[in-house]
Amino acid sequence: MKHIPLKHPILQGNQIMADKNRSRLADHSICMINLMSSPGSGKTSLLEYSLRCLSQQVKIGVIEGDVATTLDAERIASTGVKAVQINTHGACHLDAQMIASAFTSFDLNRLDLLIIENVGNLVCPADFDLGESFRVVMLSTTEGADKVLKYPSVFTYADAVILSKIDLLPHVRFDVNLFTQTMHEINPRAPIFKVSALSGEGMQSWISWLLQKKEEDSM
Ligand code: MG
Ligand code: ZN
Repeated sequence: MKHIPLKHPILQGNQIMADKNRSRLADHSICMINLMSSPGSGKTSLLEYSLRCLSQQVKIGVIEGDVATTLDAERIASTGVKAVQINTHGACHLDAQMIASAFTSFDLNRLDLLIIENVGNLVCPADFDLGESFRVVMLSTTEGADKVLKYPSVFTYADAVILSKIDLLPHVRFDVNLFTQTMHEINPRAPIFKVSALSGEGMQSWISWLLQKKEEDSM
């Protein structure tokens, strides 16, 4: 049986748009982060905490990707940061064209950092370049450490990895050593941040990394 490479033309079109997004961001010295994880691992909670620490010193915008509702954008907006919601109406990932459309809702001259909360999914968001400067992948302690091996693509190309909900470690069977060991094997260059958005533990190192990357990107 002949294999039909259906997604290749789609991905080629996406790549052209992603490159356009990237050069537009470069023109405005904006660092864009693409945050990916499965649903419920705590992306919005991580952002709420981070934005409360950062919004006084950095001009930030957030693009919220969800299949439906504006619930997460409303949570982000309550921190005082501008959030634009993209509803994919069934699609399980964001693409570069959606991000280009979201740009029109921002004044790009007044942004230093743009954070995308991708649709909760560890599979196809990994294939779609959005024009981001850095990719961040999050895994929570309520998921299995084996997710790194089950979804290698998203973890292999991550610039940083966050282990969230570490306050729950005493109550769940998450093997932190297996997780860090597997990460070091498949992607030794990505730093790992172990955080709790509830207690604030580990959040400062993650936020410092974000600030450092924003500086590097604007140089
Ligand atoms: Mg969310
Ligand atoms: Zn998808």
